[in-house]
Parts: sequence; C-alpha cells; structure tokens
Amino acid sequence: MKKAIFIDRDGTIIWEPPVTEQVNSLDELEFMPGVIGALSSISQLGYELVLASNQDGLGSETYPLAQFDVVHQKMLKTLQGEGIEFADQLIDASRPDDHSPNRKPGIGMFGNYLAGDYDLANSFVIGDRLTDVALAKNLGAKAILYGSNEQPDDCVLATTDWKTIAEYLRCTERVVEILRSTSETSVRVKIDLDGKMSSCIHSGLDFLDHMLDQIVHHAGVSLQVEAKGDLHVDEHHTMEDVAIVLGEAIMKALGDKRGIGRYGFVLPMDECRALVLIDFGGRIDFQWSVPFTREYVGDTPTEMFKHFFKSLGAAMNCNLHIEAVGENNHHLAEAVFKGFARALRMAVKREPFSYELPSSKGLL
Ligand SMILES: [Mg+2]
Repeated sequence: MKKAIFIDRDGTIIWEPPVTEQVNSLDELEFMPGVIGALSSISQLGYELVLASNQDGLGSETYPLAQFDVVHQKMLKTLQGEGIEFADQLIDASRPDDHSPNRKPGIGMFGNYLAGDYDLANSFVIGDRLTDVALAKNLGAKAILYGSNEQPDDCVLATTDWKTIAEYLRCTERVVEILRSTSETSVRVKIDLDGKMSSCIHSGLDFLDHMLDQIVHHAGVSLQVEAKGDLHVDEHHTMEDVAIVLGEAIMKALGDKRGIGRYGFVLPMDECRALVLIDFGGRIDFQWSVPFTREYVGDTPTEMFKHFFKSLGAAMNCNLHIEAVGENNHHLAEAVFKGFARALRMAVKREPFSYELPSSKGLL
C-alpha cells in the first residue's frame, strides 16, 4: 500500500504573514528554515508528498488567482529544483463561514486517499495549526505539528525544527509490527531497527528469551516478542514461528534497503568462536556448522537453533552463514546469537542522510 505525507503550505513550508495570513507577493515569499533540505530528504523515503492547504477566498476579488499563482509557482519551482515534487495538490478556496466539508480539517478533498489504496495509519500530516492535527485524526493518519515544541495529545511529534521532522520520519520508517496466528502458535513481533523503542521478550522459552535479548543488546535494535505456542507438544513450532515472524519484520523494516551496510560479519566469546555472515542482497542461502553436544540448553533444544536461524534467514530473504566452535554449549549458543546480532547491526545500520543503494545492480 502507498503512504502519503500531507503537508500544509503557509506557516509550514513558507512563512505566513501574521496579519493577513496570506502570502500576497513575491516580496513576502520566504521558506521556513531548513524546510528545503528536510523535504529533499523526506522525498527519498517512499512517501507521496501531497500539498494540503486552505487558501481563504482564493479566486475572489480580494485574493485573485493570479496573485496566488505567482507566489505558488515560484515556491513549487524552487522546491522542484531540489528534487521535491508534490504528487497532488489539495487547495480549498472556501472561507471559514462557508463551513465547506473540503476545508481542513474536513476531509472532503481527500477522497482519493480514502479508497483503500493508502496506508493512512502509517501516513502523516505536517502542519502548523491544530486544524492540521485534527485533519490527521480525521484521516486516521499521524500528526506532526510544526512551529511549536508543545506536543498536543494527538501528535506524534511537535517541533520548530524541520531537520527533526526529517530525522523522525527516517527513523519511524523502520518500525514494523507483525502478528501471526496459526493453530500452533500466536506470535507478535515488533522491531525498531534504529532502537528507539522499549524492548520486552516473552517467547515461553526462557533460554530463547535470553538469546533474543542478545539481539537487542548487540544489534542496537528494539524488539518486542510475545509468543504463545503449543509447548505441550514441543518447542518446535514456537521457535520456528518466532524466527519466521522476526525475519519477516526485519525484512519489512529494511524497506528498499537504501543507505544500509548490507553485509555483516563477526567472531568472539570465551573458548568459543562464532562466525556469522549476512548478505541482504536478496538471495537466500543458509550454511550452518555449530557442533552442539548437549540435547538441551536450559529449556531450549539445541537442534532447534539450526531450524531457528534457517527459518529466520529465509524470512529475511538473505544469505546467512553461521559457523561456531567451542566446548560449552551455553557459550556456543550465546556466541552464535551475539555474532548474529553484531552482524545484523552492521548490515542494517544506515549512514545518516545516505540514500545510496548498496548494489551496482540498482535493486536489492
Ligand atoms: Mg498553516
């Protein structure tokens, strides 16, 4: 599904004269600080940018269309010069007394976005007024209030800094939640690849929880896992399904993979040595060489670690090669999970404001 960012114009992209509350001439055209750089970054994130503006009485004698147009076209042309294009422009010309359903926060102009093609819950409205916040609520989208540091209840962010908005959108983009229920298990995984969320893990298997904690600590991600599986049968379905849902969540959170490191590798840990190689290049291969000598570590069967990582790698659509040697089986498992976490950290880490695709093919 497509996602959109609906952006107010006056007071958000360009300065709004305090008395007239309309930009009447090129002399009054002034971009808000940092907005062009921020929108240039945001336009790389995979959202459609949609301009959404109330222009009271536009087309009337007191606010002729030509007067509006000279400023508006100049603004659009300046933004286009930095690669910022609006997929759509929703401009309502009514006045407050008209009580038009098209006037923000009304959603009369937003029919195209309400037909089911857009993921509105993960779309945003950015504006400088509480009516923009109300518009977001009416659309079922998230609100970002610009021009204030006081955050109303219904806002996900309030800031006076456009760079903060760009960085917020870039980070929230990599948060994914997946729920999966079968006759064997019910699994919820939520992951934030940029580690800005709280973490809690309850898989029903204490040792697996301990291992998944290693991913949180060493991959720099936030992870929430809740699993209720048929442990009265055995551990198989629970471990397999946690791995599948975790892998799908990581894969989805990576998005188009722009700016990531793509590869990762590592060694370490006491008498053990673990080597974990990842390539998020889009091909699936799995290699495993970890010589467990006990049937169980804690409450978790060691044979299931291979199945766990095989399922995880397939769900992540990646090459995953794991080798480890050592004597202590607890250390072996922990070295593998820590190694995987460190490899994942390197592979998914994004350079700030880098949008390069780590491939010469142009697609991953
Ligand atoms: Mg405004």
